[in-house]
Amino acid sequence: MDDVLRQACDRAFQYPSATLPRRHGPRGYSDYQHYKPWLRDEYAFRCVYCLWRERWEADGQHGFGVEHVHAQRADPERRLDYDNLVYACNLCNSTRRDVPLSLDPTKEALGHHVQLLGDGVMRASTAVGAETVDLCRLNRPLLVSARRRILNLIAVLGNSQAREAVEALREMLSFPPDLPNLSRLRPPEGNARPDGIAASFFERRKRGELGELQ
Ligand SMILES: [Zn+2]
Repeated sequence: MDDVLRQACDRAFQYPSATLPRRHGPRGYSDYQHYKPWLRDEYAFRCVYCLWRERWEADGQHGFGVEHVHAQRADPERRLDYDNLVYACNLCNSTRRDVPLSLDPTKEALGHHVQLLGDGVMRASTAVGAETVDLCRLNRPLLVSARRRILNLIAVLGNSQAREAVEALREMLSFPPDLPNLSRLRPPEGNARPDGIAASFFERRKRGELGELQ
């Protein structure tokens, strides 16, 4: 296995260790669902809470949706505010419901609060991390088993020299095929961070700057 693939394996369930500044700033959609392509790119095609990836989902992006950090009911004025939105899998989204989280993933790096153990269990290292694990039920048994399956697969494939194993591993850790072309979108009230489009995954792939692995 080469170093690039090894690093991609190590990143499979790694929370960000630094707060990532927002790259995009679309404004003016009257339906928050229209922010989804922007959020897919912003959050690199994975759930901000449990780190599950579109690539591992049978229905790809259809298993994910737009999540309000400050719930719609609690803060209706921020219902259409892009900076209040994150990308989450449908299960985390429905599990958390409207319960307020002390840990705002748009302002804090989750890597400082939660880490994955080798057996697929998420371990919280702070009180707010423990609250997030609890409210999003990040250690629900089915999710822990699914994570363990992915970790085992990565380990087994990574230890194999067979070409098919390396190809399967690369596919598992690659970007989804349908990267959103954000330059084609026209948010009704413009884009507060237009420079982010050049940094999007689609544009980086177009320029030949994007590696195959996520
Ligand atoms: Zn999730």
